[in-house]
Amino acid sequence: MDDAQNQVLLRADNIQKTYGENEVLKGLSLDVHSGEVIALIGPSGAGKSTFLRCLNYLERPTNGQLILNGQPVFKDPLNPTKEELIQLRRRVGMVFQSFNLFPHLSVLKNIVLAQKLNGKRSGPEAEVVARNLLEKVGLPDKADAKPSECSGGQQQRIAIARALALDPEVMLFDEPTSALDPEIADGVLKVMRDLADTGMTMIVVTHEMKFAERVADRVMLLDRGLILEEGPPEQLFKNPKEERTKSFLQAVLNR
Ligand code: ADP
Ligand code: MG
Repeated sequence: MDDAQNQVLLRADNIQKTYGENEVLKGLSLDVHSGEVIALIGPSGAGKSTFLRCLNYLERPTNGQLILNGQPVFKDPLNPTKEELIQLRRRVGMVFQSFNLFPHLSVLKNIVLAQKLNGKRSGPEAEVVARNLLEKVGLPDKADAKPSECSGGQQQRIAIARALALDPEVMLFDEPTSALDPEIADGVLKVMRDLADTGMTMIVVTHEMKFAERVADRVMLLDRGLILEEGPPEQLFKNPKEERTKSFLQAVLNR
């Protein structure tokens, strides 16, 4: 790793989340280095989605704080201001399992609108950015199509382009391919691989173990609201320390 990669870009410090009596995140801490790709794996209900959502405050943590580039994101993490939230969501982009594109807008307009709503760009400038990004995700000819005229994999690539249009420093992916047929998922995984190659800092919740093995610098197993084990993919997949990791990997690989 060079110096740039050694820099901590995003620090999650003791993130807790409770719903009523249910303690879903039990104080998660994580340093994400610039250019690093982290694969987050773990059983259903472990808290993976909740953790990602806490990282850009789609869910508000019950406790803990976020630090971006050495600066606390919120003066008071329990009472974020609107401006702090906007800044955070520009800097930390998110891609969901369901693509959430506006059905009545063209693909191009979807990407333009995201930029406008976030106060990033508008007009012809936003269109140029949108077209460049469609090129980047391999869909330059879909600009004028409606989302319904695109396959699930294409819609997910459009959703990635939409997130990238805000020039995020970190990208979060929550099971981006789990709603897709395997063949179609490949195109999405390729876009994500290319993105990782350009040095994007990424946290990816995924069951795609091959992808995690090839692309991730670190794999983390989340279980019952805690990081149970983490390590480089070759170690975690081939030589897991924890019994829980072994049984989880076995279940996933035997599917
Ligand atoms: P994963 O993504 O690992 O499958 P989630 O983060 O979706 O897990 O969920 C973790 C736990 O948090 C589950 O027990 C779930 O029922 C609970 N949970 C998630 N969101 C909410 C919510 N909005 N209200 C109450 N409980 C929730
Ligand atoms: Mg989830």
